[in-house]
Amino acid sequence: MTSLAPLLRFLNDSPTPFHVVANVAARLHAAGYTAVDEGAAWSPPPSGKFYFTRNGSSLVAVNLNAAAAEHGFRLVGAHTDSPCLKVKPTAIACNHGYAKLAVEVYGGALLNPWFDRDLGLAGRVTVQTARGAQANCLLNINRPIAFIPSLAIHLDRQANDHRAINQQQHLPALLCRVAKTAAAADTAAPILAEILMAELARQRHDLEITQILAHELSLYDCQLAQPVGLHNEFIAAARLDNLLSCYAGMQALVAAGARAPQRNSPPPANHVLALNDHEEIGSASAAGAAGPFLQAVLQRLCGDPICLTRALRHSMLISADNAHGVHPNYPTLHEPNHQPLMNAGPVIKVNSNQRYATNSETAALFRRVCARHNLPVQTIVVRSDMACGSTIGPITATKLGVRTLDIGVPQLGMHSIRELAGAQDQHTLSAALQGFYELPDWPF
Ligand code: ZN
Repeated sequence: MTSLAPLLRFLNDSPTPFHVVANVAARLHAAGYTAVDEGAAWSPPPSGKFYFTRNGSSLVAVNLNAAAAEHGFRLVGAHTDSPCLKVKPTAIACNHGYAKLAVEVYGGALLNPWFDRDLGLAGRVTVQTARGAQANCLLNINRPIAFIPSLAIHLDRQANDHRAINQQQHLPALLCRVAKTAAAADTAAPILAEILMAELARQRHDLEITQILAHELSLYDCQLAQPVGLHNEFIAAARLDNLLSCYAGMQALVAAGARAPQRNSPPPANHVLALNDHEEIGSASAAGAAGPFLQAVLQRLCGDPICLTRALRHSMLISADNAHGVHPNYPTLHEPNHQPLMNAGPVIKVNSNQRYATNSETAALFRRVCARHNLPVQTIVVRSDMACGSTIGPITATKLGVRTLDIGVPQLGMHSIRELAGAQDQHTLSAALQGFYELPDWPF
């Protein structure tokens, strides 16, 4: 088994979608990919490796090898965002002798696990420079500067039965002590600006920053990703949903693109990796999967609309997003005949109401890919009396009209601040996605 260390490093270095895109871009750059500015007068060469970004939080990478109209695209999609606590614009509130960071819940976060954690702060800060220009800065304060303490059980004897969380009242994170008399506005306003200016001065020597103009920051757990379990068979980490899939997709793209063409074999396929922000809040944004980003890139590669239509008829998307493994302490919440296990391979997600875009054709193709590489594969449907989640799969399928498969590795504790996945599964997912990129009998 290959080392887990690169995945753990990727997880630790990617506290926000902005960091995910920066880290994926750096990896792609090292693998020979060139950044293309969507606003530039650029025409695609007949072959090559390049990537595009939007908002610094979504990325589409392309390894172009063959005429798109005849050979189509093999697309892998995943999302860069995870549920979290985002810092409000006027972020500091002071009361009772404490300065606190006011936060807004992003996505469907499981809130209880955010209490009693050592919290760092990361994201994007937009600043004004000494030259009067506006600039975006990545920021990561990778030390525990904030903490949301639980209420002691002595003050709430019913806490273990039914403690409710009021998001406005109970989630502000403690930052520091201030004078007991400190009123909200006058003392509070400069605190965050001072923290950000000091950190940016340390992290961005290339810029002379005169003012913080705006920020998109979120809290995150400083505890590092690590293997856990008696035999280290699991990974415990923040943001496994869905950075594990982003990482596996990136690995598959780089590995498939590094293969030397075989003599007398058809040319390598056109590989696409689409990593979108804003999945956790429905994908409707300029950079999200419901926006025009991926379609605009494919249109650009194809040139005329007829070519794009023809290309999409020969294309397929695999949307990779983690699935619910069976929780051994809550087995009745899972469909009895579809109970995926960690370290038993990726899961094909099926939902007849198109919450997942899988159909028999795309599921069969994935089974063939897994069989070809001796990889295990599982299937999930939710209980008929429970609601089903969704992914970027059906959204992208709806936008592009491309046949689509939804898969993901099984995990536990989805949307907690710290989730659990199988240590083997990143390798099987990566190998399966690479197998999809390299499947020889195509178009089908
Ligand atoms: Zn997800």
